[in-house]
Amino acid sequence: LPAVAEPLPVLGSDVRVPLVTGGEVGYAALDYGASAPALRRVWDDVAAYAPYYGSVHRGAGYLSQLSTELFENSRAEVGRFLGCRPADQVVFTRSTTDSLNLLAGVLPSGTRVFVFESEHHAALLPWERRADVEVTYLTAPRSRREAVEVLERALAGREPHGPALVCVTGASNVTGELWPVRELAAAAHAHGARIVLDAAQLAPHHPVDIAELDVDWVAFSGHKLYAPFGAGVLAGRADWLRAAEPYLAGGGASRTVARGADGRVSVVWHEGTARHEAGSPNVIGAYAIAAACRALTEAGFERLVAREQRLLSALRAGLAEVPGVKVLSLFGEDAPRVGVLSFVVEGWNSSHLAAALSAEYGIGVRDGLFCAHPLVRTLLGTDGRAPGECGAPEGEREQAPLNAVRVSFGAGTPDEHVERFVRAVE
Ligand code: PMP
Repeated sequence: LPAVAEPLPVLGSDVRVPLVTGGEVGYAALDYGASAPALRRVWDDVAAYAPYYGSVHRGAGYLSQLSTELFENSRAEVGRFLGCRPADQVVFTRSTTDSLNLLAGVLPSGTRVFVFESEHHAALLPWERRADVEVTYLTAPRSRREAVEVLERALAGREPHGPALVCVTGASNVTGELWPVRELAAAAHAHGARIVLDAAQLAPHHPVDIAELDVDWVAFSGHKLYAPFGAGVLAGRADWLRAAEPYLAGGGASRTVARGADGRVSVVWHEGTARHEAGSPNVIGAYAIAAACRALTEAGFERLVAREQRLLSALRAGLAEVPGVKVLSLFGEDAPRVGVLSFVVEGWNSSHLAAALSAEYGIGVRDGLFCAHPLVRTLLGTDGRAPGECGAPEGEREQAPLNAVRVSFGAGTPDEHVERFVRAVE
């Protein structure tokens, strides 16, 4: 497919930043992996709707009816974007973290969870909070094939009956490497387990088709998919969601509530998506996610991917020329990746490097362990030591003996940002 020629217009592209070396320069946002700038198109869609929003579902007034329709249409649009099967539910959450915590909350008692130690903390940590769930941590594989083999071996050893869940990322937020999701899903299903895909980093860079990948659930965040903050999605099979207690207890999730003769309050909960969307939902956030799905589809997502891959090739070729640069990788040189890449430079403290990229070149990247401590320690060979904490204050991060720099980009990135970045590292 021919690549989209120009980046899509995004918010913030007119920001200019002062440089310590004098003068100013256009801000180069190369931290899409944390939060991507919103597409101008998404912002315009939201701005057109915002003056008319109202509370959804129970309002009798015109604007409540309009908002209810737009909210439910947004749900349907996100379902189409993800290739959902007819019986799948799309639940609006706050973020990927929220989506995975919701799923952890609805696991049947006794579920065995299998998760690679290399996952983002949002995918690694929610399961252990359930005392009645057993978690098996899988060693980070060093190839895509090994990922499937490690999972196969772990599942073969489990007692074949009883619920099981595999949680896997689609694209690593550290290396950008694509995980063999279809093969992992096939392995999970062959052993009677279900699988949830953490698509936080995959969905902004690659079309995700839940039916084609044959995964049971997909989780992602709006703020990484070119929509503003505040909303995320958990899409997939309805049965465990329907059978479990609501994520939050409150209005919206409850169908009828009555005070019984015993003085207690009894509740009948909704069975549909409302069950896990208690309280007044984030209508604007849901609408923005749907607008982003629309914008990517209409721009030609595959053609955006082709452009991103061209930028990625230029970035990798440029970094390969710089002595001392080591790009972090689990699966090796040839593994397919999205526009997310972490590296270290011999003799450089990564935090100083990231600070210099900002102060001297107006480039915004990220340094640290990227909320994937076990993975980054494996990649840096620092297992057993304790470099900087995720989210640690500035001063402490500077003390970190070993961490990495991450550069990440996407549909709004002009060629010039990547070119400037390579020049700056050089
Ligand atoms: N999973 C992955 C792979 C991520 O990169 C992130 C965000 N860095 C998350 C989950 C969590 O997303 P959020 O912070 O939006 O909840």
